Amino acid sequence: SASIFAAVEMAPRDPILGLNEAFAADTRAEKVNLGVGVYYDDNGKIPLLAAVRAAEKARLEAMPPRGYQPIEGPAAYNNAVQGLLFGKDSQLATSGQTVTIEALGGTGALKVGADYLKRLVPGATVYISDPSWENHRALFESAGFPVENYPYYDAASRGVNFAAMKAKLDSLQPGSVIVLHACCHNPTGADLSDAQWDEVVAVCRERGLIPFLDMAYQGFAEGIDADAVAVRALSSSGLQFFVSSSFSKSFSLYGERVGALSIVTASKEEAGRVLSQVKRVIRTNYSNPPIHGGAIVAAVLSSPELRQMWEDELGGMRERIRAMRTGLVDQLKAEGVAQDFSFVIKQRGMFSYTGLTAAQVETLKADFGIYAVSTGRICLAALNSKNIGYVAKAIAQVVKG
Ligand code: PLP
Repeated sequence: SASIFAAVEMAPRDPILGLNEAFAADTRAEKVNLGVGVYYDDNGKIPLLAAVRAAEKARLEAMPPRGYQPIEGPAAYNNAVQGLLFGKDSQLATSGQTVTIEALGGTGALKVGADYLKRLVPGATVYISDPSWENHRALFESAGFPVENYPYYDAASRGVNFAAMKAKLDSLQPGSVIVLHACCHNPTGADLSDAQWDEVVAVCRERGLIPFLDMAYQGFAEGIDADAVAVRALSSSGLQFFVSSSFSKSFSLYGERVGALSIVTASKEEAGRVLSQVKRVIRTNYSNPPIHGGAIVAAVLSSPELRQMWEDELGGMRERIRAMRTGLVDQLKAEGVAQDFSFVIKQRGMFSYTGLTAAQVETLKADFGIYAVSTGRICLAALNSKNIGYVAKAIAQVVKG
């Protein structure tokens, strides 16, 4: 008899993973993968932060038992997350009106948030930026929502088309969910200004929209507090909102899956009811979060010495990315490229929309073994002092034709 899987179709390949496979198979020694979404150090390695190493060592020595965690994760971790997002001793945290649950990375936080929203506002439409992190659409669609775009990136100015974005938000049905990149927009590197965030908050209030901030890169643009500008603008608005956050990048803990979902409600009493519903979503999915990654993050954030160490290391990652941005722009100029690439310095976070066309990206791969996403997105954190000259020469050759 036929297998029950006989008619299963092959799902489309994840474009970025496909890129990584092609890169791995490339035998050229000088190859460079700019398509990745992780931070590499100057040696091209994923760092293990010294603060993480110290917390991990202490934990291993203590050899704690491995019981189940609370469904929402440990209070020490969740409180530490609130401190980073809302600010130390923030009213939103001390009032008890904010629910925070430990999640499996930022992706897991988005998924728990999406599943809970489907119970809260089943008829809503979800709006994501055009373009956005490619998993946003899939995540909210798989939770059962229709997903549409709001205008965001403007290729001509290489910034945000804020007028178009605002006009779209102004036209949405009350109760619509809008997913906003809190900082370091992926894939474009173009963020809203502080004043524009205030305008977004005002539209959310006037139209009765439900903001869902995605904070995957806190500390990668300007610093921990400066990068929380969107969270802080919503915090002081008195509105209710969702925030997914991730320590994948900021702690270099990708595979440990450490993130959180925070939901700001109107009162402590409301928060209790909301948490009870979010716990049902978690309980029927993965039951409760794993221990290790969250324990490491909580230990680092609650020890003054380790926290300082982490902030210094995070600052180091931020500065290195910035140095790669300036370096790339300078070297392109030195290679005689007439086109102005200075926008790369203004973009924030790990990524840049370079404006390279799909054909130019193809040539970079074929002729130089340099891999990038066909949209022209490159990861600045994949550049280092050894490969930046080679990459700049190659891009110069490709754009000069
Ligand atoms: N949101 C955005 C915008 C991202 O870029 C990423 C990671 O690339 C995530 C969420 C997911 O992060 P995590 O690896 O913690 O699930």
